[in-house]
Amino acid sequence: MRVVVESEKSSSSEEQEGAGVELLCVVRNLLKKIKRRVLVGDKVLVGSIDWVDRRGMIENVFERKTETLDPPVANVDHLLVLFSLDQPKPEEFSLTRFLVEAESTQIPVTLALNKAELVHKETVTSWKSKLRSWGYEPIICSVETKTGLDSLLFNLRDQTSVVVGPSGVGKSSLINALRSNRFGFAAAEVDDWTHPILGSKWLEDQRVGEVSARSGRGKHTTRHVSLLPLSSGGYVADTPGFNQPSLLKVTKQSLALCFPEVRKILSDSQPLKCAFSNCLHIGEPGCLVKNDWERYPYYFQLLDEIKIREEFQ
Ligand code: GDP
Ligand code: ZN
Repeated sequence: MRVVVESEKSSSSEEQEGAGVELLCVVRNLLKKIKRRVLVGDKVLVGSIDWVDRRGMIENVFERKTETLDPPVANVDHLLVLFSLDQPKPEEFSLTRFLVEAESTQIPVTLALNKAELVHKETVTSWKSKLRSWGYEPIICSVETKTGLDSLLFNLRDQTSVVVGPSGVGKSSLINALRSNRFGFAAAEVDDWTHPILGSKWLEDQRVGEVSARSGRGKHTTRHVSLLPLSSGGYVADTPGFNQPSLLKVTKQSLALCFPEVRKILSDSQPLKCAFSNCLHIGEPGCLVKNDWERYPYYFQLLDEIKIREEFQ
């Protein structure tokens, strides 16, 4: 089995270190006929391999576990929410929105705070304890001074990750740092023949090219994304994910479950449950959640926003 790390219209391909042998692949006609799209991140079966020219043909696509739209990647199994401790400072409500959007995908979330070298230790400590009470153990890092990147890399190991967060926090810088791997993390030797996931490239179905030639829009609607192999094993998407969380996938009922601290209250009180099965935890009789948790006002505000959206749908 191989994983698609890039989709290109042209056949040019760069060899990436640590990913084993990359193959430039075309997609079998039959797959195109049944409109089976191949996405970056898809696990695929490659046949007709020419080891000299490093070419092959994608014969089949394995079932996807997940599919993210922004950026379009299959089988993402980790979201890295990145904020910075300064320039810009973390804003609690915005951080909550990003975390809720990330949690709503049900993909595991890691939170990291960048630009640690710009703030005092006390600031780091107080953010850490706040975020712990929200249910997160943040990774503190600085792309500038290369601190904390090894624990980040350790966290991302053997997974396909997308970095999300507002603009200016250092997402692109982090991706570049992980790519160049210049911060002293030993690059793991990858055995071409036994590594379960080898890189592979494929030639994109030409439809995208045709659209852009006709309307001039295709190129803009298809965001280019590729997966960068990490020395710890696994991949990170080279394109950051959503920087405007829309919360469109979040419903009134699912919102509370996007807060780890609420999930904890509910699981700690089992087998007891809120009296109403559709409890929104805003003071209903027999509710177990109460309103004494720190992010309750943010929860309430987001709930209002979602209620209004649902009413107009
Ligand atoms: P993005 O919008 O999230 O992709 O952010 P960028 O990667 O473009 O970074 C925004 C700015 O922050 C750039 O000027 C970076 O050089 C800077 N930056 C990134 N990481 C750090 C860091 O750890 N410390 C400091 N001081 N600046 C950083
Ligand atoms: Zn309740």
